[in-house]
Amino acid sequence: MPDTAESTRPAAPNPVEPTARHGHESLIAQPSTFLLPRGHSRAMAEESLTPVDKDQLQGLKSIRDFLKKRTSYDVLPLSFRLIILNTDLLVKKSLNILLQNGIVSAPLWDSHTSTFAGLLTTSDYINVVQYYWQNPDALSQVDQFRLSSLREIEKAINVQPLETLSVHPMRPLYEACRQMLKTRARRIPLVDIDDETGREMVVSVITQYRILKFIAVNVEGTELLKKSVSDIGLGTYGDLQTASMDTPVIDVMHMMVKYNISSVPIIDSDRRVLNVFEAVDVIAIIKGGAYEELTTSVGEALLKRAEDFAGIYTCSEEDRLNSIFDTIRKSRVHRLVVIDDENRLRGIISLSDILQYVLLYGEDDD
Ligand code: ATP
Repeated sequence: MPDTAESTRPAAPNPVEPTARHGHESLIAQPSTFLLPRGHSRAMAEESLTPVDKDQLQGLKSIRDFLKKRTSYDVLPLSFRLIILNTDLLVKKSLNILLQNGIVSAPLWDSHTSTFAGLLTTSDYINVVQYYWQNPDALSQVDQFRLSSLREIEKAINVQPLETLSVHPMRPLYEACRQMLKTRARRIPLVDIDDETGREMVVSVITQYRILKFIAVNVEGTELLKKSVSDIGLGTYGDLQTASMDTPVIDVMHMMVKYNISSVPIIDSDRRVLNVFEAVDVIAIIKGGAYEELTTSVGEALLKRAEDFAGIYTCSEEDRLNSIFDTIRKSRVHRLVVIDDENRLRGIISLSDILQYVLLYGEDDD
């Protein structure tokens, strides 16, 4: 509403001291009596902001401006490798390739149509496990699955297929982030068209982690984010899915599928955090087709973690967002477990929670 229109509005009656009382009508508050002209309320809202609030908004703005100016291509390191898997490959062979190369996902290529065929991620292996679990007699068949059959497995176990989304590497990074949040994708392939052949060409894949690291390293404004985790309600605190060291791995995997989460904190009887079971841990367990090992306990399964496992990152509800960005700048963080002074579980902050907050907080279409 332009300012000129506001000045023609009748003055809003004072809701606390009505000028006249006419029977019952006076008891009914008219919502419009509480409305102030728009410009006025905005100004008032801004006046009520503390210096910390203002810094926070400034910090968020500097991140969003940065993401709008940079492209997805800018996130890529100067030199990188890209492992693309052919959809004709056996699922069990793909597992070994991921393990040998220390990666947890790869773009798929359909050589029959010469097109990009989506991303292979840990969710696909978890789906294969679910399929085997529902059809135990199909183990020999499971061994023969090719990557091209993953979509049929999704259908067989009634899992909603993920959209095969991708972005052009030269589009603004902000777009890639918004797409990821919209579709809940944790990574997004950058797909270009080859000038000579006119065919699709996968350039690389960017993850939430890479984007947040890129922000942490390059945006000085992250220093302004001085509000604490509890101030901004960052993360999930209710209905936390947890397990104990004795819980069978397969139960934790069912939990991950049911709640669409990629990690489950492992706690003791006092809710003290002992570890976190992650979707990527599944890969080490089922390598070599040892599907029967899924009934083993989480405790035993965690012993199979690689020696170079980065560890579990924790924080408290009082920690500020700028210190979380500091941690992201320095370490390979994939989530933060929120604990109290006695190590008891309070909540979990995923990378998508952080990305969602920095991109969408206070936006009109939040
Ligand atoms: P990834 O960790 O694979 O990069 P992500 O950042 O989307 O993906 P998820 O673990 O899938 O992280 O989290 C999705 C949402 O579920 C987030 O809002 C997160 O706070 C919440 N969440 C994560 N783990 C749990 C859990 N164990 N119980 C309840 N909610 C959870």
